Amino acid sequence: MNVYTVIILSALILDFVLNIAADLLNLKTLSGELPEEFKSVYDSEDYRRSQDYTRVNTRFRLILSSFNLCVILLFWFAGGFHYLDSIVRGWHMNPILTGLAYIGILILLRALLSLPFSIYSTFVIEERFGFNKTTPATFISDLLKGLALSLVLGGPLLAGLLAFFQYAGVFAWLYCWLVTTLYMLFIQFIAPTWILPIFNKFNPLERGKLRDSIMAYARSVHFSVADVFVIDGSRRSSKSNAYFTGFGKNKRIALYDTLVERHTIPELIAILAHEIGHYKKKHIIQGIIISILHMGVMFFLLSIFISHEGLFKAFFMDQISIYAGFIFFGMLYTPIEFVFSIFMNMLSRYNEFQADRFASKTVEKPETMVNALKNLSVHNLTNLRPHAFYVFLNYSHPPVLKRIEAIRYLEK
Ligand SMILES: [Zn+2]
Repeated sequence: MNVYTVIILSALILDFVLNIAADLLNLKTLSGELPEEFKSVYDSEDYRRSQDYTRVNTRFRLILSSFNLCVILLFWFAGGFHYLDSIVRGWHMNPILTGLAYIGILILLRALLSLPFSIYSTFVIEERFGFNKTTPATFISDLLKGLALSLVLGGPLLAGLLAFFQYAGVFAWLYCWLVTTLYMLFIQFIAPTWILPIFNKFNPLERGKLRDSIMAYARSVHFSVADVFVIDGSRRSSKSNAYFTGFGKNKRIALYDTLVERHTIPELIAILAHEIGHYKKKHIIQGIIISILHMGVMFFLLSIFISHEGLFKAFFMDQISIYAGFIFFGMLYTPIEFVFSIFMNMLSRYNEFQADRFASKTVEKPETMVNALKNLSVHNLTNLRPHAFYVFLNYSHPPVLKRIEAIRYLEK
């Protein structure tokens, strides 16, 4: 075993063990009583259902992550990376096409292996709890659209990155960084108008009381209501949500039709206010800047490790190539990625508090924000008592009781 084997293997196992530990702790804290705050909106039967939902999903995740770890270790130590390499090399294409084939096949294999799990999650678990609205036809068309999109958008970028590392010398990482940054900004910019509508219908808010109230609120915080849309989330799930996307002239707030259906107008205003809060506090731009910096670090490290013989030895490869280097570096990067994702989740939770604060301060009654959060949690069967360690690793949003507590604190 060389040093790379040791690093990657321990990172994979540590990642696995920490997540399992978090899951088990989460199951343990689940059995608590219905929190006082929720007594008015939950009956004990529904609350039990929400605990069941967390339990079922946790078990599912435990099986999925064990399966994934087994598959990757089997493929690795059975010499799968080398075997696939000898196949694609046998096709005698230029290095870029060979690389596209190698990485493309690996991505496809992974997608195929995760397919049964995604089918089970949608058509068995979500179905059982009454969330699923996805028909098999929608499921298949989503798959095909996703595949086509990653070919069209991901293929050319990957070809470009491979070409830079193949031909551009020591500054390849810099060119890659620059190109990927521009590409990412371009995608972010076109996503609201060109990509997301492939999957969902975006309708401008209809005339009526809701629109009038939203306009009045939007005016009070100087936000253009032309950027608020209702999307047909009900095509796939009865869960409800809202999100902010894009920047500049292409920004959009999307309210799920399921959300509009289930909430009172003041609650919808509060939810919208929260989303506008993300925009006003510049969270979108902040996210973009951080990922650009992160990519720079990643490409720089990639350039250092990409042709280290030891890294290739760790995967039983006898020939060094740029494309396999991409994959192996990706695995070597696991520990940094892990730490980075924890940091990003922390930042995101902080931002959620900020957006809540913005909403509480700008809507008529902060209590409507509390009501919106409660209804949202009840309807989506959110886990009301997640374990702190689970939150630390996985939550991009603070637990709902913490959010309510923070809003109440402001009211005082
Ligand atoms: Zn938010």
